[in-house]
Amino acid sequence: MDNLNNDNSDKWKNKYLDLLDENENLEKSYLDNEDLLCKTIVRLSLATTGFNKDLDPHLLRIRNTLKKGLKSSVLRSELESFSSALISLEDHKQELAIPNPALLFDFLYQHFPEQKNNLQLIESNFKKNKFSNSEYLLAAINDSIDSSLLPKQSTPNLDGFAENTLDTNAINSQLLQLLEQVEIPFELEDPAKKLREQLHSNSTISNVLDETVALLFKIKKHAQSEHQEMANYLAQLTEQLTSLGIKASGATSSANLVAKKRNKLDQSVSSQMLDLQNSSKSATKLEPLKQLINSRLVDITQQIQKHHSDEVSERNQIHQELESLTLKIHEMEQESCQLNDKLTAAQQRSLHDPLTGLANRLAYDQRLATELARSKRYKVPLSILIWDIDLFKHINDNFGHKAGDKTLVLISRLLSQHCRETDFVSRFGGEEFTMLLSDTDGQSALLAAEKLRKIVEKAAFHSNGKKISITISCGITQFTEDDTDESAFNRADEALYKAKNNGRNQCIIS
Ligand code: GH3
Ligand code: MG
Ligand code: MG
Repeated sequence: MDNLNNDNSDKWKNKYLDLLDENENLEKSYLDNEDLLCKTIVRLSLATTGFNKDLDPHLLRIRNTLKKGLKSSVLRSELESFSSALISLEDHKQELAIPNPALLFDFLYQHFPEQKNNLQLIESNFKKNKFSNSEYLLAAINDSIDSSLLPKQSTPNLDGFAENTLDTNAINSQLLQLLEQVEIPFELEDPAKKLREQLHSNSTISNVLDETVALLFKIKKHAQSEHQEMANYLAQLTEQLTSLGIKASGATSSANLVAKKRNKLDQSVSSQMLDLQNSSKSATKLEPLKQLINSRLVDITQQIQKHHSDEVSERNQIHQELESLTLKIHEMEQESCQLNDKLTAAQQRSLHDPLTGLANRLAYDQRLATELARSKRYKVPLSILIWDIDLFKHINDNFGHKAGDKTLVLISRLLSQHCRETDFVSRFGGEEFTMLLSDTDGQSALLAAEKLRKIVEKAAFHSNGKKISITISCGITQFTEDDTDESAFNRADEALYKAKNNGRNQCIIS
């Protein structure tokens, strides 16, 4: 019986000791895992530092908190402040957009299996676009994780420890997927390949994490230097394009046609520049961008060269056209001068009598209209004289037509020479002459006519040795207010008729 009691007692003792060992092992494993989890979070926060300046201080505080150990109350308040920071970034949705939601949910399902239902609900809501932005999604996930993680940390039990044990395979597979997401530059492909091999072979998680973080840093640094290189290249490019623009504008011609073409070229260059700007903004790789820019530069340069050569040939053509136009204008000017001379001569001829050089009847009509208007406007007297050579038929008949012409020329000269400058003498037709005496009343006109008659009377001339005497008769009248050119002329003509009838060589006023 004692033996049986002792056996039972040993059995329970051993069982208790076994459980104690098991509990110690689990506790040790829990502490290891906690340490590993802290390290993981610290490294991930290091890797994500720099992506958003507003989140960086939170990440730093979380790291500092974790370095002192896992204190749930401090960590909870840091997580809350981190969530608020995420929500306040509403205006920067693009920066916070989740690149691969499927990957995120995979990770969550593996590490928080007890929240599978909640997470599935969140994922389904996310797929139905029920979250207006990614901050709300992250907040929902955060709440779900908080509710599962924190109580277990504060009241650990054996089952909980078993569930929280880190799955190296899962972490490695997540890291592998992470590497797939990151664009690895050519120079870092070898270390990335090695790291992938290590991840496939499930090496110690601590080492791989170190190497992954180191590689991510290198990739980030490389992206920054490539970004800088791209900025330098774009600055250089802008300089080149500016100099091209200056060259193009230096070739500007004044011709409208050329200006239009330039406008077209400017538009084309501007649109290509705009394209380049847009492409540069959206470009993520330098090489394809360089190729695009080079091909555009070749296009633009060719366009400018073609425009320049077109402009030169057009300018030459315009220059030649201008020269021939100038020559033509010069010829036309000469022709115009000659025509003007001819016209003046023709006008002269049309208004003058070729035999005596006196104004003709047409000129008389024009002058009469002017004088009449002037007389009426300024109320100054105007008189008209009509002269007719006495017995001119006799001169023609006895001494010939040449003597008759000579008589006409002589009388013309005498009448012109012995009157005032303001008087107007014309040959009215045949051997008849008219005179318009401006600013002269009838009596003064009679005195002037008498003076002229006497001059002609005395001026005998010789033809074929024979002395020829000439006399002239004159009819005079002063224009009245009611007179037309015709009525006054008729009155003077009547006076002339009287002078002839009275025996000729006399002046009669009417
Ligand atoms: P009067 O006037 O004194 O009555 O006699 P008249 O001989 O002059 O007569 P009338 O006026 O009728 O004759 C005009 C003549 O003048 C006719 C024509 O032979 C002559 N005559 C008219 N015009 C010209 C001309 O331009 N040249 C010449 N040579 N003779 C002309
Ligand atoms: Mg007559
Ligand atoms: Mg006569």
